[in-house]
Amino acid sequence: MARIYNFSAGPSTMPEAVLLKAQQEMLDWQGSGMSVMEMSHRGKHFMAIAEAMKNDLIELLAIPANYKVLFLQGGATAQFAMIPQNILNGKTSACYVNTGAWSTSAIKEAGKYCQVKTVASSEDSKFTAIPAVEQWLIDPDAAYLHYTSNETIHGVEFNDVPAVGELPLVCDMSSNILSRPVDVSRYGIIYAGTQKNMGPSGVTVVIVRDDLVGLAPKSVPSVFNYEQQAKSDSMLNTPATYNWYLLGLVLQWLKGEGGVAAIEQRNIHKANKLYQAIDQSSLYSNPVSKDCRSRMNIPFVLADASLDKEFLSLAAQNGLTTLAGHRSVGGMRASIYNAMPEAGVDALIAFMAEFERTH
Ligand code: PMP
Repeated sequence: MARIYNFSAGPSTMPEAVLLKAQQEMLDWQGSGMSVMEMSHRGKHFMAIAEAMKNDLIELLAIPANYKVLFLQGGATAQFAMIPQNILNGKTSACYVNTGAWSTSAIKEAGKYCQVKTVASSEDSKFTAIPAVEQWLIDPDAAYLHYTSNETIHGVEFNDVPAVGELPLVCDMSSNILSRPVDVSRYGIIYAGTQKNMGPSGVTVVIVRDDLVGLAPKSVPSVFNYEQQAKSDSMLNTPATYNWYLLGLVLQWLKGEGGVAAIEQRNIHKANKLYQAIDQSSLYSNPVSKDCRSRMNIPFVLADASLDKEFLSLAAQNGLTTLAGHRSVGGMRASIYNAMPEAGVDALIAFMAEFERTH
């Protein structure tokens, strides 16, 4: 068996130990005589899996008791709509910060439900910087403020939680959740799809402060209603059971690795190595301002774009795959989430150096 280094932005590489554990438990989960995917979601085996998974997430992120933790479907994209549907609370506008493609998508969807006030945007710089929070034109009468802590396509990441006064802070953490410690108490809502740092796709984690639960108008469908999902422990309908289980295995793996603070140190180290290699080269470059470069998604372009195809094909031959940048920006992108081993980053750096030497 030859496993490659997969730099996909999501679904993305999984910890190998998790895949092996799932393989080992595939036919018979812990003496139950069945696979997790065959279990009733209301049966005792699955209830135990679900409870352990939720508790591990609470522990890893130190989620305070006044938050509900939901495991929903529809991806982060469903949250783009569910947030205004659930927490406008009679208000007519919401503030959004636009730092890249995913913020832009969130803004577009929210616009169906309320007036969106784009309080800051880095579109003029082609999303290579984060506008200083002091300059955000925050409207204190808006229902909430939304931002994207890591822009998966543009490779831009916030290093601090923005101070936005009294407004509930809502954050799309899809591509950097669990990669660094976070003070959950600063947020009204944190949400993230699982397919980067938490497992395969199919589950969306939503962490929502109690005062924002129960505000949705009656017309909001039950499965999209935070209060109804919280009351039924995210089992208003049949959940994505096997994906919950895999998410649980990833969380156990992360705990075994020392938790979020320990993985952050590794992430810093891996990202620094790759940025250094890019910055020192005359073939590769990264356009993002140094103070907000993502540790998770590292885009880079070749000085001569006519070499792109050959770069990708030679990289794949060397077991380094899914390095093409998003179709909207081109170039390359290496996604190096928690599960990407340092050896994968080293192999990429060595390949890049060799490619530069020979081209
Ligand atoms: N937000 C961010 C930051 C993302 O990276 C993605 C997916 N790549 C999404 C939202 C959309 O997520 P989903 O496909 O799970 O709806």
